[in-house]
Amino acid sequence: MSGPRLAVIGAGAAGLSAAIWAARSGLSGESIVLLDSRQRIGAKILISGGTRCNVTNRSVRPSDYSGGPRHFVKHVLEAFPPARTRAFFAEIGVELVLEPTGKYFPTTHKAATVLEALRREVDRLGIRLETGRRILTARRLGEAWVLEDAGGAHLRAERIVLCTGGLSLPETGSDGTGLRIARDLGHTLIATTPALTPLTTQDACWKTLAGLTLEAALSLYLRGRKAHEVSGSMLFTHEGFSGPAPMDLSRHYLRAAGDQAAEVRARFLPGLDESVLIEGLRAGRDHEGLRTVRHFLTERFGLALQLSELLCRRAGLERDERLKDLTTDHRKALVRQILDCPLGVDGTLGYRKAEVTAGGVDLAEVRASTLESRIAAGLHFAGEVLDVDGRIGGFNFQWAWSSGHVAGRACAEALS
Ligand SMILES: Cc1cc2nc3c(=O)[nH]c(=O)nc-3n(C[C@H](O)[C@H](O)[C@H](O)COP(=O)(O)OP(=O)(O)OC[C@H]3O[C@@H](n4cnc5c(N)ncnc54)[C@H](O)[C@@H]3O)c2cc1C
Repeated sequence: MSGPRLAVIGAGAAGLSAAIWAARSGLSGESIVLLDSRQRIGAKILISGGTRCNVTNRSVRPSDYSGGPRHFVKHVLEAFPPARTRAFFAEIGVELVLEPTGKYFPTTHKAATVLEALRREVDRLGIRLETGRRILTARRLGEAWVLEDAGGAHLRAERIVLCTGGLSLPETGSDGTGLRIARDLGHTLIATTPALTPLTTQDACWKTLAGLTLEAALSLYLRGRKAHEVSGSMLFTHEGFSGPAPMDLSRHYLRAAGDQAAEVRARFLPGLDESVLIEGLRAGRDHEGLRTVRHFLTERFGLALQLSELLCRRAGLERDERLKDLTTDHRKALVRQILDCPLGVDGTLGYRKAEVTAGGVDLAEVRASTLESRIAAGLHFAGEVLDVDGRIGGFNFQWAWSSGHVAGRACAEALS
C-alpha cells in the first residue's frame, strides 16, 4: 500500500470531520491516515451532553463564541452551517431531534449513535484509522511532513491537519501535546484557561441548597463594573455552582484572574424589574402584612422556598419575619440579595471538569478559508486546538464539524 498523502492527527470530532470531508471532497480514503493516541477514539463524544451528545444548535452565530475574531469564526461557520451538519448526520444515519432549548440531540438520546455513525463513515470511505499512535513531533522535510510518534516510528505525508483538542479532561486524550507541536512549528499560542467549568465558593451557606436548579442571570464585575452577563439555568452543588450559566461565565472569570476584585453576582429573578419587586413588597406589607416574607417571595414571585429562606437570612431578616415588620433597610438588603447577590466565587473546578479550553493557536496566523497555517505550508488546524471556544448548547461540536470540514476539503483541493 502506498503511504498516506494526508495525515489527520487526533480522531475526535474535528479530526473525524476533517478526514471524512477530505475523502468526500475527492481524496481517496486510502491516502488519508487518521491518527489518535488513544486505543479507543471519541471519548469526548461519548461523554458529551450527559452521554446524549448535543450535536449542534438551532441557531449558531459568531457571538456564541469567544476567542479569536468574530469574522474568522463567521467564515468557517458559513462554510458548513448547522443545516449542513444536520443533513450530513441524516446521510450517515443519525436522526436528530430539536429540544425546546434549541439543542439538537440524536433521537436515540445516545452519544454512541453519533460516534458509531462517524466510524462507519470512516470505514465506508476507506480511511486508515491508526489508534494508539501518539504524535510527538512534526517537521517539514522538503515537500513532505514527517511525524514521529511516541514509539519512535516515523510517518510521512504531504499535508497534515492538527486536531488534537485543548487541555480539558486530559484523560480523554487531549493533553496539550498538539499545542506544543504548533508552538514548536512557530505558532503563537493565546494563553489557555479552562472554559465551561463549574465555579467554586467557600461560602458555606450555598451548600445548603445543593441539588437546587433555577434560572438566573450571572454577572461578572471587574473593578466594580459589569464586564459580562450570562443567563440560563444554574445548579447549586456542594462545591459551588454548576449548570449552563455558571459554566458559561467561567472562561470570563478565569481570564480576568489577574483582577483581585473580580466578583460574580446573581440575579435570582432574571426577568423582574427592581421597581416591580419593591412595589410588590410594599403592596404585600399594605394588604397581606401578616404573611411571612419568605413565603410571600415564593408564592408571589416563584422564588424557590429554600432560596427565599436563605436570602432572607442573608439580608438580616428573622426566619418568620412578616411583611408588615419589614424595615426599609431590610427591604433594600433583600432586594439586593435577590437581584444583585454576591456569590463569593473564589475559583473553578479547572480542566478536571472543563468541557473546553479557551485560548490556543492564534487565528491571526491561520487562513480562515482553508484553516492552513500562514507560517508552515501544508499544516492545517481544526477544532478546539484553535483559539475558539463556544458557550454551552452544541456550539463547540458545531465548531469541530465546521472547522474539520473546511480543513479537510481544503486539503483535498490542494492535493488534487
Ligand atoms: C464532559 C463534556 C461534555 C461535552 N458536551 C458537549 C456537548 O454536548 N456539545 C458540544 O457541542 N460540545 C460538548 N463538549 C465539548 C466538545 O466535546 C469539544 O469541544 C470537542 O470534542 C472538541 O473536539 P476536538 O476534536 O477539537 O478535540 P477532542 O475531542 O479533544 O479530540 C482530540 C483528539 O486528539 C487526540 N490527540 C491528542 N493529542 C494527540 C497526539 N499528540 N497524537 C495523536 N492524537 C492526539 C486525542 O486522543 C483526542 O481523541 C463537551 C466536552 C466535555 C468534556
